[in-house]
Amino acid sequence: MALDSIRLIIERYNMFSMLRDKEEEKVWILDARDRCDRCSAQAYVKVLGKNNTDLLFCGHHYDKAMSNAVGYDNMMKFMESVIDERERLQENRTIGSAN
Ligand SMILES: [Zn+2]
Repeated sequence: MALDSIRLIIERYNMFSMLRDKEEEKVWILDARDRCDRCSAQAYVKVLGKNNTDLLFCGHHYDKAMSNAVGYDNMMKFMESVIDERERLQENRTIGSAN
């Protein structure tokens, strides 16, 4: 293989991993100071309401609210937008199981 094409492959690879690193560098809005309104566990979902109020949920209580018809309906009526960072729970779990 010509040296030039090898160099090209390496450059492409570096570019690809740079892009990948950028993707992984997520900016999280919620942090440890945000607590679930129901159980004061760390909140991973923030529901922004139509009347300038917001609700904070841990993964458990958000699932619980959304998994029944009444809760889901109320949530949809209230919700203007939602910040859902529950994928962080998945990450934490992965880190936890590796230890
Ligand atoms: Zn909770």
